[in-house]
Amino acid sequence: MTEILYFPSADACYLREFDGRIVERGPDHVVLDRTLFYAEGGGQPWDTGVLRWDGGEAKVHKVTKEKGVVKHYVDRMPERDEVHGIVDWGRRYAHMRYHTSQHLMSGVVWKIYGARTVGNQLYTDRARVDFQPANFTPEDLKRIEDECNRAIAEALPVTISEEDRVKIENEIGDRSLVDLIPKHITRLRVVKVGDRDYTPCGGTHLRTASEIGRVRILERRSKGKETDRITYVLESPQE
Ligand SMILES: [Zn+2]
Repeated sequence: MTEILYFPSADACYLREFDGRIVERGPDHVVLDRTLFYAEGGGQPWDTGVLRWDGGEAKVHKVTKEKGVVKHYVDRMPERDEVHGIVDWGRRYAHMRYHTSQHLMSGVVWKIYGARTVGNQLYTDRARVDFQPANFTPEDLKRIEDECNRAIAEALPVTISEEDRVKIENEIGDRSLVDLIPKHITRLRVVKVGDRDYTPCGGTHLRTASEIGRVRILERRSKGKETDRITYVLESPQE
């Protein structure tokens, strides 16, 4: 298992550099004892960055996670076991903004329409979320956008905690996809966006919704089976 350094709190998601030790070497990747690099999962793409050692540097161009082991794919093999990792912050921070806004939108849509989030994918410059059952009108989209932006204006705090699985199942079992998480996992990392959303997630998130900026919905597309896909972009807080 790799120790995941951004796991404990929203503040930890803002760490950009760390020291780690290589515990395993593959032909094109290394495993560290601890990491800040996000491995692709839950609709959030992997982090990129570098691993530095005394006398050299390797680029990390892809990160995956299998059974708790995080693999950092590198363009050259580090010559030392002790490395200093640096995450590409622009890319990571964009993912944090989109991921937190996705949670917010999922919470808003659940509260107003009772539609569950059945899929999502985020990028550095846009995101899409699939809702079911849903058949949104242009007025609905305007309302979803307005409700998201209202929550952002309220600067809702984002908190991350670890909770008992049973508690989560009782409180939000219906709307979340807790049943998809392997049964042997009894403690879950939960992300809360003020009073708007509360859901198990392993992603990296903002400390406050105000850093999201502004949500602008681009389009709604029907994906059949009462499923609607909403695609949106974020405008920076200063724009
Ligand atoms: Zn998430």
